[in-house]
Amino acid sequence: MRFLLRFILAGVFLLPYAAICADSLPDLGELERSGLSQTTERRLGEQIMLEIRRDSAYLDDPEVAGYIGQLGRRLAAQGEGVRQTFEFFVIKDSMLNAFALPGGYIGVHTGLMLAARSESELAGVLAHEISHVTQSHLARSFGKQSQAQLATLLSLAVAVLAVRSNPDVAIGAAMTGQAAGIQQQLNYSRDFEREADRLGLNLMEQAGFDPRGMASFFERMLQFGRLYENNAPGYLRTHPLTTERITDMENRIALRPYRQVLDSEEFGLVRAKLKAQEGMPGDAEVDFANQLAERKYNAEAVVRFGHAHALVRSEKLAEAAAEIATLRRLKLESPLLETLDASVRAKRKDISGALRVLRAAAQRYPHARALTYALIETQLSGGDAATALGSTQKELQLTPEDPRLFALQAKIYAAMGKRLLQHRAQAEAYLLEGQLHLAVEQLEIAHKAGDGDFYELSQVDARLRELKQRKLEEMRQRDRQ
Ligand SMILES: [Zn+2]
Repeated sequence: MRFLLRFILAGVFLLPYAAICADSLPDLGELERSGLSQTTERRLGEQIMLEIRRDSAYLDDPEVAGYIGQLGRRLAAQGEGVRQTFEFFVIKDSMLNAFALPGGYIGVHTGLMLAARSESELAGVLAHEISHVTQSHLARSFGKQSQAQLATLLSLAVAVLAVRSNPDVAIGAAMTGQAAGIQQQLNYSRDFEREADRLGLNLMEQAGFDPRGMASFFERMLQFGRLYENNAPGYLRTHPLTTERITDMENRIALRPYRQVLDSEEFGLVRAKLKAQEGMPGDAEVDFANQLAERKYNAEAVVRFGHAHALVRSEKLAEAAAEIATLRRLKLESPLLETLDASVRAKRKDISGALRVLRAAAQRYPHARALTYALIETQLSGGDAATALGSTQKELQLTPEDPRLFALQAKIYAAMGKRLLQHRAQAEAYLLEGQLHLAVEQLEIAHKAGDGDFYELSQVDARLRELKQRKLEEMRQRDRQ
């Protein structure tokens, strides 16, 4: 909300004073020459992502993010000769929406994930967005409108507006003509839409999904849009959807051989987890319980898993533990069950039981990041900061660019009362998130902490000099352009 307002205000009222914004917004110097360069696009995307990550709607759940990232990368890997990095993330919002930001950042709303009736439907939306990115549709639309450099930049920020279903924001934006104009520029052209459909279908097929999923989902969105004219899914605002497009898709699909594709178990589990977080705490619990009572499900384990999450949310921990025991009897095997089991044990003050579950699971699923984070958190909350620190160091050797690990490290040092080390670790976390000025701030606090030895202090000072230098260079570069 805060960030949206900031962007809307900046976009609508400060447009003539572009120079004022220069410090906080990336430079678009290359724009006039050749449209948006890849570097500029990436920088622009990074800037917008900083705001998104700070927004309360950003879903900071490593299990959901891990799933959507895996699905997205599986599709993106099918693109030929494309050297583009992607980052997939999830926004907690009930409006049906998905969108691509410059630089390969692709966001999906929880509402859309829950509305998909199959994994292929969700894959269809992602494949379509990935194709907008690989075909540089954003940069190509900018090329044509280079006269309003900053406006287009801000229009992207407003793209994020389409991200949120907050009615106040929508009304505020609709009342200003400029905002409407910006919204116009955002819409992909029909040619771009058709191209994204065509290439997206290829990605889906090559990645082993059912291409019918794209047509069926888009068709439902179109019907939904007709029903709720003024409250159409956000997706339809930026991706003009027509009956003609759907017919095109169906014609292409008709030429391909039929194949049945089963949803992955993770698709069901992640959605059940999301559904358990929706609405009021009791709602999902009742829904899942009814489904179980009426035996209305394809996979009992998925419904029970959602039920267990909903019970945790209602703080019915004993019932949740019983449901987890049933899931074990049903032979559900997933790292998501292990983190759930451990969290219930930890909430019931059985820290050693939680640790036992997590340690065994980490052996079994060495690539499940959420398990690693949960293990470190549980070690810390169990009062064993030294072990938590050891685990964090070990993980940082394997993945030194994971900001979450540095943030955990900062939390551990804070618990140990080591202020210099706490702020030094927090600085690295910010740096990896692209927040250079916040990193410098943390190092300055670390410098003044007064509880480090000579060696630690000189390390902080060296890092501080290095980052200040980097900040200077960035500013100089900006001035040159
Ligand atoms: Zn589109």
